[in-house]
Amino acid sequence: MATRTQIVMLGTGTPGPDPDRSGPATAIVVNDAPYLVDFGPGVVRRASAAYRNGVIAFGRGVTNLRTVFLTHLHADHTLGYPDLILTPWIMGRRAPLTVFGPTGLKAMTNHVLKAWTRDIANRVKGAERLPTIAQRVRVTEIASGPVFRDANVAVTAFRVRHGGMRDAFGFKFVTPDRTIVISGDTAPSERIVEYSRGCDVLIHEAYSEHTFAQVSAKWRAYRRAYHTSSTQLARIASRAKPKLLVVYHRGNPGGAPFANPEHVLLEEIRANYAGKVISAHDLDVL
Ligand SMILES: [Zn+2]
Ligand SMILES: [Zn+2]
Repeated sequence: MATRTQIVMLGTGTPGPDPDRSGPATAIVVNDAPYLVDFGPGVVRRASAAYRNGVIAFGRGVTNLRTVFLTHLHADHTLGYPDLILTPWIMGRRAPLTVFGPTGLKAMTNHVLKAWTRDIANRVKGAERLPTIAQRVRVTEIASGPVFRDANVAVTAFRVRHGGMRDAFGFKFVTPDRTIVISGDTAPSERIVEYSRGCDVLIHEAYSEHTFAQVSAKWRAYRRAYHTSSTQLARIASRAKPKLLVVYHRGNPGGAPFANPEHVLLEEIRANYAGKVISAHDLDVL
């Protein structure tokens, strides 16, 4: 039977608490198995909404979300972690949650489990009689290179440049019918060009030059070190030539919250890039 890989944009936001955009989280669904990249705030609710919209691969109660990759340890990408560990467990997930991410992820996992000690003990020993959870969260700290393979996907991690944040990765997913690259948070990176050359879909962060011009010197320096501008992304995409460029995590650091029109960003990209580009919204299925 022909496979069809779906990309489900569960969270297209940034640290800004935009009610329309959850924190970064992207699911790749292959043969009804979901693979998650990043778990920003709102991830479990958004996956549940996608299930209600017909993406039944997540399972009722999001219990099928159990293979997960993390780009880096920034809060906007990880604030959904306790939710991801605990909510599907409470709702009936019995298979282990397997998480691949940067150095420091094991410590974060142990801290989350410790922070919810009372809840976990109560649910295990109380009337719910849930199975223990600690050994059911399996964490692998990764380096660049192949990190995961099964019958549906081969996943490769590669290092990107995210200012002073150590161990920031992008991921390349190769499925039976699609090749998908996710940038994570990054300043312009040659590795993005290298890994996404000719891919089907490149999902990349960007901020607009329009908003860049409005922020202070401190925030302009921050953006240059940590993130990628629309024109820089246009140059990257012109070289990599993905069949589809998807912009997410449209940052506006140092600027007014949410004042960041997406049509301006898209116009800036289109001025320098002839390929197909869209700006993603939460719950888009691509
Ligand atoms: Zn971020
Ligand atoms: Zn970041």
